[in-house]
Amino acid sequence: MRQSQLFTKSLKQVPSDETSLNAQLLIQAGFIDKLFSGVYTLLPLGLRVIKKIENVIREEINNIDGQEVYMPALHPLQNYIQTGRQDIDVLFNTELKGGSKLVLGQSHEEVVVPLMQKHIHSYKDLPTKVYQFQTKFRNELRAKSGILRGREFMMKDLYSFHLDEEDLNEYYKLVQKAYFRIFKRCGILGSTYLTFASGGSFSQFSHEFQTLCVAGEDNIYVCDKCNLAINEEIIDVQSDCPNCKTKKLIKHKSIEVGNIFKLKNKFSASFDFQVTNQNGEQSDVIMGCYGIGLGRLMGTVVEISNDKEGIIWPKEIAPFNVHIILINQDNESVKVRGEEIYQNLLDMKIDVLYDDRLDSRPGEKFSLADKIGCTKRIIVSKKNIEKGLVEIKNRATGEVEFVNIDEIVQKLQL
Ligand code: ATP
Ligand code: MG
Repeated sequence: MRQSQLFTKSLKQVPSDETSLNAQLLIQAGFIDKLFSGVYTLLPLGLRVIKKIENVIREEINNIDGQEVYMPALHPLQNYIQTGRQDIDVLFNTELKGGSKLVLGQSHEEVVVPLMQKHIHSYKDLPTKVYQFQTKFRNELRAKSGILRGREFMMKDLYSFHLDEEDLNEYYKLVQKAYFRIFKRCGILGSTYLTFASGGSFSQFSHEFQTLCVAGEDNIYVCDKCNLAINEEIIDVQSDCPNCKTKKLIKHKSIEVGNIFKLKNKFSASFDFQVTNQNGEQSDVIMGCYGIGLGRLMGTVVEISNDKEGIIWPKEIAPFNVHIILINQDNESVKVRGEEIYQNLLDMKIDVLYDDRLDSRPGEKFSLADKIGCTKRIIVSKKNIEKGLVEIKNRATGEVEFVNIDEIVQKLQL
């Protein structure tokens, strides 16, 4: 993409009403715009990151047999009355002109269960797994953590349906592995812990994927020795590690980037969702649900991967992998070479942002490039072009290499 065509403008100053680092960095570099607290627009750069995260998740969930659907965001209140969740505090209520009560979807158990009930009748139809990327609406009391806690946000929600708990347990482990692959590809694996959390009213434990971060709203205890992690909601803070019995539990602030729940028959019982089993009897369908907030994941990456210049994106989810910066554009051969390099990279299907703006000084271009945080930067300048070279800089390490123009593609190592 040509940067001269990008309609967004970066901000010189950090927005004064935004206290969270993720939102400050993202707003300043032109990834998102704040409409009001907890509600943001994804600008072209931000949407590119979200789409990349979405694709990583889609690949990994398809790999564990997820079938993608897209369920509505408007839900009948009646379905929530049926599950007893009509009074949960985050619900946004609304109604049809005729007066029928509706809510804005805060999660989709109340929709997915009646949906699957129409299709799943026998043990032969199980197991099955459906998922979606959908906007959720939650009337969160406080929304001060930028895109970590939105009042409207994108979630990947996966629901699995099984004949018995044994089958659920097996799939639950597969989802754990898929989540670790997702967080690895998004660059946060090193600081993300599978954490024991409360199971709500329907299971002894659930698991959260918690990423250590000072901006986190959660507190977890991590065992220094065996790496077991437990949410503070369910631990006696005086206790030794329940796994290796050492006194090494250390408290950390963290962000819940995802969670997985064994719902068992909680929602299927509410809707009388049963199948005929092998013995010809009716039995409750057993369920699991598994969430990841896309915006929260993006915000987490920003919180833990930045320096004083700006964001440093992991390569799989960078808005662009390569950022070409032209300086000395009044020089004809710089212009011609820059265009050639840009076209070559496009032909190679490399994601590239091309700073062809005529009205910006080199210092401004470099500073904005650091804020945006693409993986590699190619600087095309008069001095280097005369020697047949360009400068390639790695955003994460700061390493600089001078590369022959013909060897750019090999040297990029994307
Ligand atoms: P939290 O404890 O942070 O309020 P939750 O336990 O209510 O979240 P779920 O309903 O299980 O979360 O949602 C699944 C995932 O969706 C969470 O793990 C998180 O990644 C994301 N998520 C939840 N609430 C928000 C929010 N307000 N803004 C952005 N992402 C969210
Ligand atoms: Mg939670």
